[in-house]
Amino acid sequence: MSNKGSLIVISAPSGSGKTSLANRALEELPKLKFSVSHTTRKPRLGERDQVEYFFVSEKEFEEMIEQDTFLEHARVYGNYYGTSRAFVDEQLSVGYDVLLDLDVQGAAQVKKSYPEAILVFVFPPSLEVLKTRLKNRSLDDPSIINKRLRIAKKEIQCYTNYQYLIINRKIEKSLVELKSIIQVSGCRLEKRKELAAEIINTFPGD
Ligand code: 5GP
Repeated sequence: MSNKGSLIVISAPSGSGKTSLANRALEELPKLKFSVSHTTRKPRLGERDQVEYFFVSEKEFEEMIEQDTFLEHARVYGNYYGTSRAFVDEQLSVGYDVLLDLDVQGAAQVKKSYPEAILVFVFPPSLEVLKTRLKNRSLDDPSIINKRLRIAKKEIQCYTNYQYLIINRKIEKSLVELKSIIQVSGCRLEKRKELAAEIINTFPGD
């Protein structure tokens, strides 16, 4: 148990800056691995298969559900998204921390099956900032942006199911917070028990 990595879930409404934050943490923490999800969403401009996502058809995704491939999966904005159980378990067992970028439904499922997972929610500083970021990003057309804004309010209210809340005003400060959460997760007593026993055993006496 002590040398198993931590499972970290990060969620946020789109436009909160979550992806940039996650990417910076991944660059700066060599022990942290990102779990690339499967999705039936079409790739956006510049997205590469197996890098941002494994892009699969609905039929392939449904077969993977049947085969119990996913440790969690959900429909988000009309598309399927899912996390590979094998990848996560393997990385955790060799001692890596694993970062999952999930919607609120996925996070709730992970909390049930991995109660020791650390759940982090990222807020945008305000609705105005969220709107501007979504429009400037222009990855999606305006009807999708409006749909995302309507869903954002519902998603944001789920933050109480999480253990940590980062208000993403300045990425540098948010990064310090996220990295601290991840690093300190390895100091939890249940992660340190074997190491503690090894040290105690070197002490003289019964
Ligand atoms: P996007 O299509 O913008 O990349 O992601 C849309 C939403 O799907 C985001 O909220 C993201 O966190 C979520 N998401 C990405 N991968 C997964 C996954 O494997 N499972 C779940 N439940 N949500 C995911």
